[in-house]
Amino acid sequence: MLLNNTIILPGLEGVIITKSEVTADGVYELSVEMPVTPHICPSCFQETKRTHDYRAQPVRHLKIAERPTILRYRKRRYHCPCGKNFAEENPFVNKFQRFSKEWNQQVQIRSVKAKTFTEIAAQYQTSVSTIIRRFDAIVPSAMKGPAALPEVIAIDEFKGNTGKEKFQLIIADAQTREPIDILPNRRKDTIKDYLRKHGAKVQVVVMDMSQAFKAAVKQALDRPIIVADSFHFVRYMNWALDRVRVREQARWHEYDRKTCKKARYIFHKAAHKLTEKDQWLLQRYFSFSSELKKAYEFKEAFYEWFYEAKRNGGTRIVETQKKLHQFYLKVKESGIPELTRTVQTYQNWEREILNRFEFNYSNGFVEGLNNLTKVMKRNGFGYRNFARFRARILLHHQYKHIGNSLG
Ligand SMILES: [Zn+2]
Repeated sequence: MLLNNTIILPGLEGVIITKSEVTADGVYELSVEMPVTPHICPSCFQETKRTHDYRAQPVRHLKIAERPTILRYRKRRYHCPCGKNFAEENPFVNKFQRFSKEWNQQVQIRSVKAKTFTEIAAQYQTSVSTIIRRFDAIVPSAMKGPAALPEVIAIDEFKGNTGKEKFQLIIADAQTREPIDILPNRRKDTIKDYLRKHGAKVQVVVMDMSQAFKAAVKQALDRPIIVADSFHFVRYMNWALDRVRVREQARWHEYDRKTCKKARYIFHKAAHKLTEKDQWLLQRYFSFSSELKKAYEFKEAFYEWFYEAKRNGGTRIVETQKKLHQFYLKVKESGIPELTRTVQTYQNWEREILNRFEFNYSNGFVEGLNNLTKVMKRNGFGYRNFARFRARILLHHQYKHIGNSLG
């Protein structure tokens, strides 16, 4: 059957399809060749249209009509009067390749987007190592890394478990929320060296309350504005409350100790979100320990301060600071050691905490990236190899808007 050669199949524009058939094992085979066109001889640069011979080159192509598809390419070689024989140009397959350009491109996009390499290998009926090779091939061009970091960045650690390191560091643009880079570990010197190299334009850094991060940023950058991430600093208050609860419940009867441990999450809830049952339980535990009650009330007071500070923003920062100092004082008067220690931490980070309201940046979105890596690990991407791991996360983001229409 000679198909009308004006039929355009994706990736085969300008190609003549001379025959199409479905083989006994269900493979769709297309016999294809290129029209004769003048070619420039690579040796003497003269034009020639003289065919020398043909070579058969089978090329794996994307599925057509849900069938594995092979292009039976009749590759023409031209002859030049100078004596040189050379292969014609074609739009669908590179030299010495067994897969079409379209196939490679889609597998590459898929390898970035899919949950596992194995899944793609099955879908494209090829080996996992072929998929990994395709993935590795795009890494260098897509991963040039930043020439310079933007003005506002967020840094956060996450548990990637790649190579010998448990924790990696993600650097993101805090304004666009795009991940920029991933460092192999969260150590001070690693961060410092990286910022010295790329951070000339950086003015603001959002981070959790890590001394190592703060030291690295201060040593690498010229008078940076450090913003403590609110998710992180608010969490310290819940941790302090947890410690008070653990200390207090240790003195109780086993039954109450166990149920209180089980119900520990209700202590983190805001008072106005407590159910009747939550309230009943809390009242019971508070009746055993007035200190636990006090600690819960301090936690609530801190949240109240936080939301008010957020509403007030940068314009009433002096008031926000005054109220924070009042909070410190009350906590210290209470003499609850766990809370007092937390307040000391807040005092060490006060400038950075207040900057949160002055500049209104957070790194909460980095959590989303953490979730992505969790999914990757759960699905057995198992990136022992840090470079591949880093590439997978950054490319996943770069490819967010690419190829969503693919089958
Ligand atoms: Zn020639």
